[in-house]
Amino acid sequence: MNADHGWPVSESVADQVRRLREQLSDWSYRYYVLDEPAVPDAEYDRIFRALQSIEEQHPELVSADSPTQRVGDRLLDGFSEVTHEVPMLSLDNAFSDEELVAFDRRISERLGIQDTVIYVAEPKLDGLAVSILYKDGQLVRAATRGDGASGEDITANIRTLRSVPLGLRGQAPALLEVRGEVVMPHDGFEALNERQRQAGQKPFANPRNAAAGSLRQLDSGITAQRPLEFYAYSIARLEGQAMPATHLASLQLLRDLGLRVNSLVCRCHGVDELLAFYQRVQQQRPTLGYDIDGVVYKVDDLALQQKLGFVSRAPRWAIAHKFPAQEELTILRDVEWQVGRTGALTPVARLEPVFVGGVTVSNATLHNADEIERLDLHIGDTVVVLRAGDVIPKVSAVLADRRPESARAITIPVACPVCGSEVFRAEGEAVTRCTGGLICAAQQKEAVRHFASRRAMDIEGLGERLVDVLVDEKLIANVADLYRLSIEQVASLERMGEKSAANLIEAIQRSKQVALPRFLFALGIREVGEATALALANHFGSLQAIMAADDQAFVQVADVGPVVASHLQHFFAEPHNQQVISRLLEAGVTPSESEPQKPETLPLHGQTWVLTGTLEQLTRDQAKAALQQLGAKVAGSVSAKTSMVIAGEAAGSKLDKAQALGIAVEDETYLIKVLTEHGVYPGSAE
Ligand code: NAD
Repeated sequence: MNADHGWPVSESVADQVRRLREQLSDWSYRYYVLDEPAVPDAEYDRIFRALQSIEEQHPELVSADSPTQRVGDRLLDGFSEVTHEVPMLSLDNAFSDEELVAFDRRISERLGIQDTVIYVAEPKLDGLAVSILYKDGQLVRAATRGDGASGEDITANIRTLRSVPLGLRGQAPALLEVRGEVVMPHDGFEALNERQRQAGQKPFANPRNAAAGSLRQLDSGITAQRPLEFYAYSIARLEGQAMPATHLASLQLLRDLGLRVNSLVCRCHGVDELLAFYQRVQQQRPTLGYDIDGVVYKVDDLALQQKLGFVSRAPRWAIAHKFPAQEELTILRDVEWQVGRTGALTPVARLEPVFVGGVTVSNATLHNADEIERLDLHIGDTVVVLRAGDVIPKVSAVLADRRPESARAITIPVACPVCGSEVFRAEGEAVTRCTGGLICAAQQKEAVRHFASRRAMDIEGLGERLVDVLVDEKLIANVADLYRLSIEQVASLERMGEKSAANLIEAIQRSKQVALPRFLFALGIREVGEATALALANHFGSLQAIMAADDQAFVQVADVGPVVASHLQHFFAEPHNQQVISRLLEAGVTPSESEPQKPETLPLHGQTWVLTGTLEQLTRDQAKAALQQLGAKVAGSVSAKTSMVIAGEAAGSKLDKAQALGIAVEDETYLIKVLTEHGVYPGSAE
C-alpha cells in the first residue's frame, strides 16, 4: 500500500493510521456534509479497508473517533437536531462471494445453528437514509441519519415527497418509526442537471449527491421541485401493536400501512440463493431507473437479529454485498485523435487499464477539445473513469491535487492524424475537423458515397455496398479514381457480372457532364448543401472562379455566412483536395459553366413563402432548400409580407391566418409543379 499511495515506507504505523484517518475524514466531510465527493466510492472503500486492516493488526491504535468506528459525519448548520432513540447504523460490506460465505458462517456459528439461515435480500439503494416518525398514523417528524446518534430535522422537506404518506392507511399503530432510503431516479436526475446547467449552476456529480443536496435544503419549496422517492426498509420502533416475528413480515406491515417497499425484496434460504439474487439484481441494475450499489442481506428472524446485536457502527445480522464499482481511478497515459467518417476529430483517452463497471477499460471517450478544457485534463493526470451499464466509458473528472510534475498539456493536432491535411475548427463549433475530405482514408467511403449519390453526380448502380468493396479492394481511394476504373476490374469483384460492370462504367462516364451546382454539392464540403452550391454557382459562374475566391468573396454570396465561407476557403486551400479536383478535370469531368446570375434574376426573388401542415412528397427541408434555390425566402410565420402559403395535410393556424389576411394559399401539387418547372424538384421524400 505504501508504494501505491506514495507514502514513505519508513512511516511509522501510528503516522500511517493518522494519515489515513485524516484522508478519510476529509473525504467524508465532502461527501456527507458538502454533498460533493472528492473521490469515487471505490477509492474511499479501499482506504477505509486499508485502515481497517491496520487497526485489526494493531488494536491498541483503535480509537472511538476513527472513521472505522463511526457513522456519517457532523450535521449541517441551520437544521435542528433530532436524537435517534434507536441509532441509525451503517452496514458492513462484502466485496466478494468468499466474504459473503464467511459472513454466513459467522452467523451460523454465533447462533449455534446447523440449518440453513433464512435471510431477506434487498437492493441496496444508493441514496440517503432517513427516519420518519408517525404518531397515531400522522407524520410528525423526519430526520437524516447524521452521525447515527442524531440527525437533521428535515420534516418539512420529507412532507413534500409524494411517495411519503402524511397519514398511514388502515389500522395505524400508536407509534411507528420507519427507516428507509430517499433516492433520485435517473430521468429526474438528468432533467434536474439540465436545469442546473441552463441556470448556470453546477450540475450534481451523481443521483446520490443530488438526492442528499435536495433533501437538506433549508427551503422546502426547493425540495418540493426535486424528483425524490422514498423506499421503506425497516421498522425502528413500533408501539400499540405487536412487532411481527420476521423482517419480511415487518416489510409487509409497512406496505399495508401505505408505505412503499421495493418490489425486488425476497426471502432467501442460505448462501446459494443469496448469490443467485445478487446475480439477478445485477443484471436488472441498468434498467431499474434508479441507482443501487449492491444488495443487502438481513437475517429474517427478528429474535435472531436481537441475539446477534451490533458492533460499533453496523449490525451483525446484515451485510451489504457490493457490485463492482462503476467509477474508478486510473492514470491518463496519452490522448489519441481519431477521425470519424465525416472528418470529425475525436480525442480518445488511453488509460492505464482499470477494472470498472465489471470490465477492464483502457480507452475512454473525451468527446471534443472543449471537454478536455472543461476537465482541465493533462497527460499523466489521475482521472475518474465512469462506466455504467453498457454505456461507453468516459473520463468524468480529474483529481488535480494528484497531478505529477511531469504532467503534460494536451495539444489539438494541427494536421489530420490519418491523411496529414490541415485540420480546422469553425468558430462556435466544439468539433475540430479534417479538411482533406476527398482523400482522407477515414472519410473516403463516405466521400465516395456522397459524390455518387442521386442528388450529386448521380452515378447509377454505385450503391453503398459497392463503394465499400471498391475501397476495401483498394481499387479506389478517392472520387477521382472512379474515372480510371475499367470494366475488367469491376467485373473481377465478387457478385459482379460483365454486364453490370459495363453498366457501372458507362454510368461513371455519363456523370462527366455535370451541372456546376451538382458538382460543388458532390465535393461534400462541410455545410455546403444543394441550395448553397446553387447560390455559389450562380454567383461565380465557374469552378475556377470559386477556387480562386477567398472568404471575403464567399460571404458576398446570398446565404453564405462566415462559417460556411471559412469551410469553403479551407477546403479549396487544402493541396490534397486541389489535386483530386485537378485529376477529376483531367479525367474529363466538365462542370458546366454559366454566366454568373444575379439574385435579382432568380424566378422567386423578393418573394416570401410559408410552409404549413404535412407534405407528402417532400420533406420540409427539401422544400425549403428548393424554394431558396429559386430565390425565395422561407419564413416560419404568416404576415402581411407573405407572398404564398403552401398548405399540406392538417394545416392549422397559419392557414387560418393566411385566409384572414387574404394571402394566396396553394397545396403541395402546386409547389411540386413550380419546382419541376424550374428544374429544382429534388424527387420524392427520403
Ligand atoms: P453504506 O452506504 O455502505 O451502507 C449503509 C447504508 O445503506 C444505510 O445507511 C442505508 O442508507 C443504505 N441502504 C440502502 N438500501 C438499504 C436497505 N435495503 N437496507 C438497509 N440499508 C440500506 O454505508 P454508509 O455508512 O452510508 O456510507 C459508507 C459508504 O459511503 C462507503 O462505502 C463509501 O462508498 C461511501 N462514501 C464515499 C465517500 C467518497 O468520498 N466518495 C466518502 C464517504 C463515504
